Amino acid sequence: MDLRLKGKVVLVTGGAKGIGAAIVRGCCAEGATPVIVDRDEQAGEQLQAELRTNRAETGLIIADLSDAEACAEVVGGTIQKLGRLDALVNNAGVNDGVGLENGTTEKFVASLERNLVHYYAMAHHALGALKNSRGSIVNISSKTAVTGQGGTSGYVAAKGAILGLTREWAAELLPFGIRVNAVVPAEVMTPLYQQWLGTFPDPQQKLMEIVAKIPLEKRMTKAEEIAAMVLFLISEQAHHITGQHLFVDGGYVHLDRALT
Ligand code: NAP
Repeated sequence: MDLRLKGKVVLVTGGAKGIGAAIVRGCCAEGATPVIVDRDEQAGEQLQAELRTNRAETGLIIADLSDAEACAEVVGGTIQKLGRLDALVNNAGVNDGVGLENGTTEKFVASLERNLVHYYAMAHHALGALKNSRGSIVNISSKTAVTGQGGTSGYVAAKGAILGLTREWAAELLPFGIRVNAVVPAEVMTPLYQQWLGTFPDPQQKLMEIVAKIPLEKRMTKAEEIAAMVLFLISEQAHHITGQHLFVDGGYVHLDRALT
């Protein structure tokens, strides 16, 4: 299937590592120009160097998206440099453990700034360019939005709101032909996931327990499998898909527990 992504400009927040990096690599493989937006400069430069050896064109913007002004600059800078924007992938986030008992209202709000507010800011600032290209938005949520996790109120509130905003923006942007969808991962081995596993006394044991409960093939979802869904959703092949929540999780959230 030709995704017809050649020459398209795709902004990927949190694009230097993990799922974002897989989306960036996938964009390059399809001939698109991804712009990596990340606060991890070293990882961003490493990825860009890797992709350059394959003669792929990429942009790299180092920014902390918790700063609303930075979001405006990221979008403005991209359009100024590349002249267009065809897709926004809101992906940056961190499961930061601000719970009901251990948190404070201030920490909760800060978690929303890390995980939610920049999704809005990026979409808001990208709107003009997306209208010009009749582009699309993909928001990365999390299974925790529908299952809960415990001990992470800020992150889960953000991920739930992201699902709500996906429907809201899909409705609002119908007149402009801008499609908005969400991809919902569950268990994907990335630096963020490694970090979360590390909070358990026996990370390896915890990992084995989780993997045993993933219905399809008893394995983690690969970052490339999340990326494949994102690439499809931003492509013209998904031209009649909007307002959807796509679970790429080996059946983890929806299949009968008796199957595990
Ligand atoms: P990751 O391995 O930590 O990679 C994300 C990248 O985004 C990191 O380089 C991170 O930098 C950067 N980043 C985070 N917040 C940022 C900010 N405010 N400004 C700029 N850069 C920022 O994470 P991942 O596992 O690939 O997760 C990607 C997305 O998938 C997240 O939204 C996450 O909630 C979601 N998700 C992941 C899983 C999973 O199993 N991995 C499951 C469900 C949902 P730092 O390293 O400095 O933080």
